[in-house]
Amino acid sequence: MNKKTSANKLLVFGSIAYDCIETPVASEDYILGGSASYAGLAASYFAPVELAGAVGNDFKSSDIERLRNHGIGLDNVRVFQDKPSFFWRGRYFDDFTNRETLDVRMNCYEDYSDLVLNDDARSAKYVLLGNISTQIQASGLEQVNDPSYVVLDTMDLWIRNSNESLRELIKRVDMLILNDSEAKLLTDSRNVITAGDRLVEMGAKCAVVKLGEYGAMLFHPDGFFTVPAYPVRALHDPTGAGDSFAGALSGYIANQDASDFETIKHAMVYAAATASITVESFSCYKLEETGLDEINARAEYIKKIAKI
Ligand code: AMP
Repeated sequence: MNKKTSANKLLVFGSIAYDCIETPVASEDYILGGSASYAGLAASYFAPVELAGAVGNDFKSSDIERLRNHGIGLDNVRVFQDKPSFFWRGRYFDDFTNRETLDVRMNCYEDYSDLVLNDDARSAKYVLLGNISTQIQASGLEQVNDPSYVVLDTMDLWIRNSNESLRELIKRVDMLILNDSEAKLLTDSRNVITAGDRLVEMGAKCAVVKLGEYGAMLFHPDGFFTVPAYPVRALHDPTGAGDSFAGALSGYIANQDASDFETIKHAMVYAAATASITVESFSCYKLEETGLDEINARAEYIKKIAKI
């Protein structure tokens, strides 16, 4: 897999955040996070990326540089001088998988629902509606002229608070990505397979259900597929794994300029490989530093064990 600079641009929505994270063995405060940061960096290995989001008056220029160094377009990131950046504080339980949100503050995103995209972003062919309020996702998608492929990610907060508008939005997307507990919550299912089937019945053209350290499942009209996770032995912080998965998956599809069942299967392999890198450090450090060679090596390993 080579990054194609000529590939179609991927427009990524989501949060650009400062996170305070506690794991069972370590904690870090005010580190760069957010769904769009992780997804954008992950996608940048595969395709040109444009971020759409907001930062506040506390956002460090060094963190802007971290995104810029990956060639990510930031012309659609609005800077709010009167509010701080999106903030999230989370704590992982002993299993390193389940976590609780201790604090979440939309901050500058409270004033971002009137977002206006520039002409370049409006012409995007590939769109990832990364995790952020359903209202921002819907308003963002509304402004894209003629997207050929739209991926939607969300979380329990929006499933509970914006259920009706989320259900409307799902009908307009090509792929819905959720983790297993979110899929069960949204579809009122006890079983992950039933949940996946129901997500497709809700109107998404296909659905991906993430299973954390166990991989992910694809529910597609042309078949069912499951990808294992890359075996990570140096787990530091699971934050952003799901966003990195969604970013790499969308970036791969933009790279290939195709979205058939076989292409999505391969996209899931690269998504699993990229997400495995994110969890090996706090923040996006490992994701930023590790090159495409390592992603390719991990993808080949997954293909070998999964016999793809
Ligand atoms: P993940 O571990 O893939 O679920 O993503 C965690 C990231 O999502 C963190 O960096 C947070 O800043 C960000 N985040 C947490 N809650 C929200 C939310 N309600 N909306 C958007 N982003 C969020």
